[in-house]
Amino acid sequence: MRTIGHFIGGREVEGKSGRFADVFEPMTGEVQAKVALASKAEMRAAVLNAAEAQVAWGNTNPQRRARVLMKFLELANRDYDKLADCLAREHGKTVPDAKGDIQRGLEVIEFACGIPHLMKGEYTEGAGPGIDIYSMRQALGVVAGITPFNFPAMIPMWKFGPAIACGNAFILKPSERDPGVPMMLAALMIEAGLPPGILNVVNGDKEAVDAILDDEDIKAVGFVGSSPIAQYIYERAAATGKRAQCFGGAKNHAIIMPDADMDQTVDALIGAGYGSAGERCMAISVAVPVGKTTADRLMEKLIPRVESLKIGTSVDPSADFGPLVTKEAVDRVKNYVDIGIKEGATLAVDGRGFKMQGYENGFYMGGCLFDNVTKDMRIYKEEIFGPVLSVVRAHDYEEALALPSDHDYGNGVAIFTRDGDAARDFAAKVNVGMVGINVPIPVPIAYYTFGGWKKSGFGDLNQHGPDSIRFYTKTKTVTARWPSGVKEGAEFSIPLMK
Ligand code: NAD
Repeated sequence: MRTIGHFIGGREVEGKSGRFADVFEPMTGEVQAKVALASKAEMRAAVLNAAEAQVAWGNTNPQRRARVLMKFLELANRDYDKLADCLAREHGKTVPDAKGDIQRGLEVIEFACGIPHLMKGEYTEGAGPGIDIYSMRQALGVVAGITPFNFPAMIPMWKFGPAIACGNAFILKPSERDPGVPMMLAALMIEAGLPPGILNVVNGDKEAVDAILDDEDIKAVGFVGSSPIAQYIYERAAATGKRAQCFGGAKNHAIIMPDADMDQTVDALIGAGYGSAGERCMAISVAVPVGKTTADRLMEKLIPRVESLKIGTSVDPSADFGPLVTKEAVDRVKNYVDIGIKEGATLAVDGRGFKMQGYENGFYMGGCLFDNVTKDMRIYKEEIFGPVLSVVRAHDYEEALALPSDHDYGNGVAIFTRDGDAARDFAAKVNVGMVGINVPIPVPIAYYTFGGWKKSGFGDLNQHGPDSIRFYTKTKTVTARWPSGVKEGAEFSIPLMK
């Protein structure tokens, strides 16, 4: 059986802890590899190695750092199919979807190639007599990223791209469910010319995560995953004085106004609700039609579309979505469907019984659709993270606006309408971090920032875009006087600019 170790000091090394986790192939249900789970001592060794390497990398001029990223883009494009195949086989998503996962990560690397410009400081000449002020951005040192299973290429790149461009060394602790692609990305960075020790992949579970959180040589932690773990990481990282940005789970609503183009809306809901088997933090999991007529029209069109979803293997190019990541994930999602029925919601489409012919041990389930879901139900309040869409009927716009605004999660939201006034009002008032107007998955492009509110995001500063440069650098401000011709004498009160 293939074993996956760690990537430390520029090469793959074997795990020494003796502990391993199974890496499944969700489409067959087989164990395809064992991944090493790092001990605290292995993590410490990786951090020390990274700290040593970081000094020279931090002193490398930003243009040269950018060139490594440019070369990496070229190599990742060369290996695109290989990366997508590994990603689909470990995660379960289809190959075209896996390519999108890689592409959205590479776009942040492209953004990070602008680091010579992005890291420029400020300068004020003549802020006082003979006084100039300037600011500079400096790398933090060693920083870490802890990432989820559902975007094993995109989210690691969102983190290590800007961090490394800024001159930091990076420790990536990817999900133990699908570590193959992060390992391949690290190898490509070395091939692109990154010095050993600047990007390290340390595989593991809670022991490795806690070792990151308690390590005083790690200056910042970026986390993406479920909300309880996000909150735990935020609090424990802060206890050792680290910067922390921790992004959590989601319950993304789509509001459907009476004037929405219903065919386009249904297309959007089908893709955003069921794509990647609903295992996306920006998946639409709640549809909110406004008014009874809108709700009835929506259900009439939605039911046959959910019934005819094509579930296939990860390598079937015609599949709408593939298997879920693990058997536990399938059991958890099916359990939520049972809960919804008990709570009194109407199960309009039941995909629980789906079996994939020839792949009976794979982690499949069909699409499920609930109608008449209410806001007191667990299936509304909690993140299900599977191919299940809940329809909550709202009487009017105000009620529809209040639903995502009052929800504990606040990652993404969308409104479908032809009314510019309603859309503008909604975008301004809704209490959610990312808003789509006739766009179901409003993931901002790389040069804007990505981040949810409330239980979907702990800490400040978002991922990618200008915030990522702020997060991975510290600002130093220099006040300089060159006093030729300026005579002031001693001053005992607080200095003021004259
Ligand atoms: P998860 O929280 O189980 O795991 C995320 C990471 O935390 C993994 O690296 C894992 O090894 C580690 N981890 C798990 N349990 C831990 C513990 N007890 N102590 C310390 N570390 C632990 O999340 P997941 O199942 O991999 O990913 C799915 C979740 O991620 C969903 O909730 C989804 O909404 C969320 N997500 C959020 C975003 C976002 O940007 N907000 C993006 C993608 C995914």
